[in-house]
Amino acid sequence: MSDIPHISNWVDGVHEASSSEKISVVNPANGQIIATIDATTQDNVNDIVRKSVSTFKDGPWARADASERYAVLSKAATLLRARIPEFIELETRQTGRPIREMRAQLARVPEWLEYFASVARVYEGRVTPFKGPVINTLTRLPLGVVAQITPWNHPLLIAMKKIAAALAAGNVVIVKPSELAPLSVLKMGELLKEAGLPDGVLQIISGYGRETGKFLCESPLLAKIDLTGGILTYRAIAPIAALNMVPMTAELGGKAPVCLFPSLDVEQAVKAALFASFIASGQTCVTGSRLLVHKDIYTDFMQLMERRVKELRLGDPQDSRTQIGAVINKASVERCSAFVERASNDGGKVICGGKPATVEGKGFFFEPTIIETNAGADVACNEVFGPIIAVIKCESEDEIIRIANDDTAYALGASVWTNDFNQAHRVAAKIEAGIVWVNGHHLNDPSSPWGGFKESGVGKENGQEAFESYTKLKSTVINYGIQPTWFDPETLNARYG
Ligand code: NAD
Repeated sequence: MSDIPHISNWVDGVHEASSSEKISVVNPANGQIIATIDATTQDNVNDIVRKSVSTFKDGPWARADASERYAVLSKAATLLRARIPEFIELETRQTGRPIREMRAQLARVPEWLEYFASVARVYEGRVTPFKGPVINTLTRLPLGVVAQITPWNHPLLIAMKKIAAALAAGNVVIVKPSELAPLSVLKMGELLKEAGLPDGVLQIISGYGRETGKFLCESPLLAKIDLTGGILTYRAIAPIAALNMVPMTAELGGKAPVCLFPSLDVEQAVKAALFASFIASGQTCVTGSRLLVHKDIYTDFMQLMERRVKELRLGDPQDSRTQIGAVINKASVERCSAFVERASNDGGKVICGGKPATVEGKGFFFEPTIIETNAGADVACNEVFGPIIAVIKCESEDEIIRIANDDTAYALGASVWTNDFNQAHRVAAKIEAGIVWVNGHHLNDPSSPWGGFKESGVGKENGQEAFESYTKLKSTVINYGIQPTWFDPETLNARYG
């Protein structure tokens, strides 16, 4: 018998019997299989959705008091915080991201449970200024059974952002984590059960996107689909969701500009660029993948940037000193290589990096790469999702703003780095992106709405907006003084609406 663990679906409060087909989960840093997961079939998906609908209708969660939802989610936060070290190791193993990044990221994940627990507890409805002796209350109800389709790059963080908001609002949740890195999410079922979540309210199912994910999103019984992934996945799901009248939130790709102005000293500008660009080996939706550098600091910036990028320590992700970990798989290495080749054909100059790498002969790595290029080049407009960064020399503030806004279809994150206070406000106001950071990048908080414009998505994660997007608004109009007289023989000043 194999000693590779199999982690089966979490359904109705237990790990189900394994599916006959299994999918291997691979550690991208050494190519070893670390676990297998289910490949959930269409019949099984349909059965789980049907059971989830009954749990929503008959189960206690949708009707639970806000105080009860608060208690369960806050306890889950406490349990998760106590187990963070275990999750850091697992997340590093399944994503290949450096352990020092996973320590910083995972330490904050319980905050999403705490925040949405608190929102559920303090959320107040409204009473509108309705004319006449009428009271109009607005209340928010859970939607029903919601599907959450999550990516591999921040497996637990992204899943918990969505799960916490949906549960706080009283929904039944079916999560389909990425088949490439599902293991931390699959552990959330037991943890939430221990916190007091009733069985069947959180279902976690595994499988390939084109099969299990597709089967799930095709269900007309869903009340919402919340996707974080690529634009092609959105385009595969959105038409059927539209036909079924299932609303969608979509957190998609990005091509974040990092706008670097001459009031910065060069060292500060380089630190900003390294931070924005190379976290997660460039595999985040807000990777600062276009450095828009003002001509007045360009030469000095490039000199220091080249030196610092060459010094980045690529290595074993479990080593605390490693700064650049693996990319997710072989296909990702190949995609990075193809981007570098096209960039050279487009007239770009590879300043450093540009090649696949291994650690002790193993794994899927790519050298941190910077490419000097023009704003219209493929590498400067399209999402690489790897450690390949385009640098563009810009003549003026206006040119930086124009390139930031016009040369890509994405508009998720952007950062503006300057010591000129007026310029900071001026540029931030003109940049078209769902999130603009001034003298920062990657900053994220459960209270701060997160989501893009244009092809970066629709809707928001985080904040009251995310909570509300998991509810439906009900208007109750209570008449305490108008008799219906419209069809009386003598009607005078009667009101019908
Ligand atoms: P992906 O689109 O390949 O997969 C995302 C999820 O969708 C996975 O669970 C996958 O199994 C599933 N899926 C794939 N095809 C499907 C289909 N036809 N029907 C239903 N489900 C399907 O994306 P990925 O490679 O896991 O993640 C990288 C992408 O996600 C990048 O484009 C990145 O920018 C984006 N992303 C966005 C954000 C954000 O907040 N905007 C955050 C992280 C990642």
